[in-house]
Amino acid sequence: MIEFKDVSLVYPNGTQGLKNINLQINPGEFVVVVGLSGAGKSTLIRSINRLVKPTGGDLLIDNENILNYGSRELRKLRTKVGMIFQNYNLVKRSSVMKNVISGRLGHTGTLRSMFNLYPKEDLALAYRSLERVNIADKLYQRSDQLSGGQQQRVAIARVLTQQPNIILADEPVASLDPPTSHQVMTYLRKVNKEDNITTIVNLHFIDMAMEYADRIIGMRAGEVVYDGPVSDVNEAT
Ligand code: ADP
Ligand code: ADP
Repeated sequence: MIEFKDVSLVYPNGTQGLKNINLQINPGEFVVVVGLSGAGKSTLIRSINRLVKPTGGDLLIDNENILNYGSRELRKLRTKVGMIFQNYNLVKRSSVMKNVISGRLGHTGTLRSMFNLYPKEDLALAYRSLERVNIADKLYQRSDQLSGGQQQRVAIARVLTQQPNIILADEPVASLDPPTSHQVMTYLRKVNKEDNITTIVNLHFIDMAMEYADRIIGMRAGEVVYDGPVSDVNEAT
């Protein structure tokens, strides 16, 4: 379970990214965070893997306050929290397989990975992850030779190879056309259900959010202004 207790975040330049956020996100939930650009969506989800650090309140994951974590605990946290980005963040010149197996980095150790000494189980896991998003046929391709939708599927496979409890997806479809966006959202939803991975996705289109979410969180100016099931959104808007 993820619990925000009165969480605030003020950036060094004085911008208030988050204001007194109180939220509870249960294991296996598929939550979509919506809001205009600058609303604080990205700051909210990046707090969960501590890419940014809230300046007030408590942020608990499975009852541990991650705001007290040192670098060692953060490394461990980040192996259990996978992240997907708008621009895929693949290593462009590397093969699909090399990108996906890097999901095991925190598990395997840097030295082994430098020499491509991955345990057989990790390679098998990476291959299975690629199959799950239907892109295993591109195994040896350079990742920058794939389409955007294919690259985002590789990014999902990389995260799956991490075997995370939580997936954070920051505008995962903002660079994709509508059919490809639906495809990517469908895969995110599928792995959320199959593996019971708590999934938090930022989107700026409410229509897309309503189609896929169990629960929608609306943000404006660093605050949560809506939090509820999809069925209630129409009444609220
Ligand atoms: P969203 O993801 O909804 O577009 P963000 O979380 O990126 O919103 O931003 C929330 C607010 O924090 C905005 O006003 C933004 O300009 C500001 N902000 C984001 N990152 C930084 C930063 N590193 N330094 C200062 N202000 C930032
Ligand atoms: P999908 O919808 O399955 O993600 P597309 O239909 O967009 O993929 O792409 C079809 C084919 O074109 C793919 O095999 C992909 O490798 C190739 N392709 C798409 N964009 C590019 C690109 N910028 N450079 C090279 N090949 C590309």
